[in-house]
Amino acid sequence: MKLKDYLRFRKITNKTFANYLSISPVSLSRYQNGDRFPEKEILIKIYNLTEGLVTPNDFCLQDEKNYEVNDNEKKELKKFHRSILSGSRKYLGKAITLIESSREKDQITSEKLLELFKGNDKSIRIGITGVPGVGKSTFIESFGIQLIDKGYKVAVLAVDPSSRFSGGSILGDKTRMEKLSVNKNAFIRPSPSSGHLGGVAKRTFESILCLEEAGFNIIFVETMGVGQAETEVYDMVDIFLVLLLPAGGDELQGIKKGIIEMADLIIVNKADGELKKSAEITQMDYKNATHIINKSRINQDIGVVVCSSLNQSGFENVWKYILKFIDIRKKNNDFMNERNSQKIKRMWGLIDLKVKGFVENLSSRKFVEELIQSVKTNNLTMYGAVKMISSYIIKK
Ligand code: GDP
Repeated sequence: MKLKDYLRFRKITNKTFANYLSISPVSLSRYQNGDRFPEKEILIKIYNLTEGLVTPNDFCLQDEKNYEVNDNEKKELKKFHRSILSGSRKYLGKAITLIESSREKDQITSEKLLELFKGNDKSIRIGITGVPGVGKSTFIESFGIQLIDKGYKVAVLAVDPSSRFSGGSILGDKTRMEKLSVNKNAFIRPSPSSGHLGGVAKRTFESILCLEEAGFNIIFVETMGVGQAETEVYDMVDIFLVLLLPAGGDELQGIKKGIIEMADLIIVNKADGELKKSAEITQMDYKNATHIINKSRINQDIGVVVCSSLNQSGFENVWKYILKFIDIRKKNNDFMNERNSQKIKRMWGLIDLKVKGFVENLSSRKFVEELIQSVKTNNLTMYGAVKMISSYIIKK
């Protein structure tokens, strides 16, 4: 860690730290700016005073990939942030693109942008899942319009399951949520999954934060109901909805039992026409079964309601349930407690991503190639190689 960052983090002034080192603040500034290299005793003192967080390497190694955001860029970012706050769709879209970019420079810039965010705990983050064809887009479109009529601003992060099924987007030529997509109080964003967990985008959590900063107070995060992505989304939302078809057991639904167990609310869609009766039977079946599957996040049996997204009926029950659910969570502080623990989980997740990215880049290093060669030719055990590579990582 750079000494400048350490002092800022610990809120220690240059003058105080210079005092600890028994040097003048001017000398300390010179070390920080790279105008002078500290003497050995000073390096050791700094290392000890910072509990090893600032090492001699931090004064001499200029990592070529370590882009800094300059003052001009900082000003631009502040302007960028103000545009998001004022509700500019153009800048909101740009921000999400920046956040999703895998270019290192963009990632650093987007992190700086995210640091400016004030946060919004008035929003409701809703995860929604179900197999293709269950009616997720129809539901979000009709329900979303009703919420907009109630005065909400609705955003949808549609996690587009690219490549897993068809080598491309399965949403393909189908225009989804036509009415919602042109509504000025709605914002729809398909997130490219880029293979990450076969569904959910790497940066969905940060995209949610962006949408909230732009004033959206109902955020839907939609996934396909195939498995891993749901667990990730569950950890990003306040309530998790599972849409089901008017048909019997889990196998007929084509949905995994594990996903049903994650539900806070089960919604049997397509309760209209000939399917109405069957939807009600499915509702009864699940109601009778919910006491034997997991409890919802409010420690009650999972709610089960029916609706028709086509006829826009049954939505009031869905909305009532969501409001009651959030109200209970807020009253006993679980709402903010969970958001906070989601934040910490995300922090570790980001560290994981950073380390993984670093490790992936490692394989192109010459010394790693040589280690691999040595393992292949039995000149080094794989455990020996792991030890050498990990000690390299720790030093970095
Ligand atoms: P998704 O793949 O889960 O997003 O499903 P869609 O929203 O694209 O819907 C799949 C099909 O089911 C479409 O033909 C919809 O018109 C139809 N559909 C969606 N909701 C309902 C509903 O409530 N009732 C009936 N009868 N059909 C519906």
